[in-house]
Amino acid sequence: MGSACFVTEQATETILLRVTNVCAECYDNLTVGDTIHYDMQNYRYICMSCQERLCALLDENCEVIEDESAVLF
Ligand SMILES: [Zn+2]
Repeated sequence: MGSACFVTEQATETILLRVTNVCAECYDNLTVGDTIHYDMQNYRYICMSCQERLCALLDENCEVIEDESAVLF
């Protein structure tokens, strides 16, 4: 469910050094071996809990389900 929007990876030293060492959504620290998700819509890495949360907001086309009460920043 929603997994087509994200690529699941294990955080490696290379990713942490070259791309990011924090979740792009909640800014939690990522460490080597963490399960992380590459957000293909926004070209960023996010942690597992953010991926679960965002998945619930996306339809099968990875588009945000419109809801004026939920504002993504
Ligand atoms: Zn996060």
